[in-house]
Order: sequence, then structure tokens, then C-alpha cells
Amino acid sequence: MIRVVTLDSYDDKQLAKFSRTLYTAFGVGSEHTGQFELPSGMPEPLDAEKVLDAVKGVRAYKDDKVLYLTSRKLKERELPSGTAPTNGFSRFGKDKAIITSAGYKDLEVGYKPVARHALHQLGHLWELHHCLDPRCSMYPPWTPSFAQGEPTFCTFCREKSEQKIRLAKS
Ligand SMILES: [Zn+2]
Ligand SMILES: [Zn+2]
Repeated sequence: MIRVVTLDSYDDKQLAKFSRTLYTAFGVGSEHTGQFELPSGMPEPLDAEKVLDAVKGVRAYKDDKVLYLTSRKLKERELPSGTAPTNGFSRFGKDKAIITSAGYKDLEVGYKPVARHALHQLGHLWELHHCLDPRCSMYPPWTPSFAQGEPTFCTFCREKSEQKIRLAKS
């Protein structure tokens, strides 16, 4: 199951819609688990890796994935080509990811791009790699066209994620 943990306040209806999108994309249950406080001493822009290490107390069962959602900016990441704005971060094959809705007034306005980034980072948790299909959420997220796409996967990535989810359950 996908547990969405908010680090800032969001509208319940918008969160429910967001969770439904995750459910549709992965075919596993998704729910808003609650809002957690960030430990003090974490300035904006947030260091995504530090946040993943710092937030405690989220109860996760063996095959659960936890997605943190914040409206605060994440620190830019260093790429070989320079720095790029970060919309999300995850540890490949592990159980936690974080995404930001910074730059959008709320989840209604930012629904598609934020959900697309969520699919992308959750995809990495289920060991999906980047995909060459620009319509797919596993397309490299720093590309200019990424935010315009739909929060869906191509057939290949969808099948691969289903396979990984089945393996994790057995
Ligand atoms: Zn990626
Ligand atoms: Zn794909």
C-alpha cells in the first residue's frame, strides 16, 4: 500500500483525488496516513535526503511505500550538466520518497505535474528505471516537457511495476 504523509497542510478532497490517481497508476491501495511535523532545524529549500532520514514514526508494513508530500521547495540537485530544480527524490528500490508541490498554489492547480512526479518517484521505489517514452511518468523529470504530461505510465513500465508489486507481496 502507498502511504501519503503530508509535511504541510493540504485540502482533504484534493488529497483524496491524488491518492486515487496513485491507486489507478499502480493498482495498489493508497491513502493519506496523516500530517507529520518536520523536525526543527530544517531550512527551506529542504534537503530531500535529510528529510527522508529525519521523519520518524510512520508505521509502514513490509511492502508499504511512503510518499512524503511538502509544499516547501527542495534543494536543487547537481547533475553532470549543472544544477536542476528538484521536484522529488527517492532511494531506488527502498521504501520512501518525497515530492514537492512548491510553485503551485495547491494540489488542484498542480494536480497533474505533482501526481506525475509522485508516480515517477514511487516508480523508482518499485525499481523502475527511466523510460524513453515522453508520455510516460518514468521519462527523465528534468526535461522541459515532463510537467505537461499525464500522470500515467507506458505499457512497459505499468507491466514492470505490476510485476514488482506482485513479487513484493509473495
Ligand atoms: Zn528519476
Ligand atoms: Zn515507461
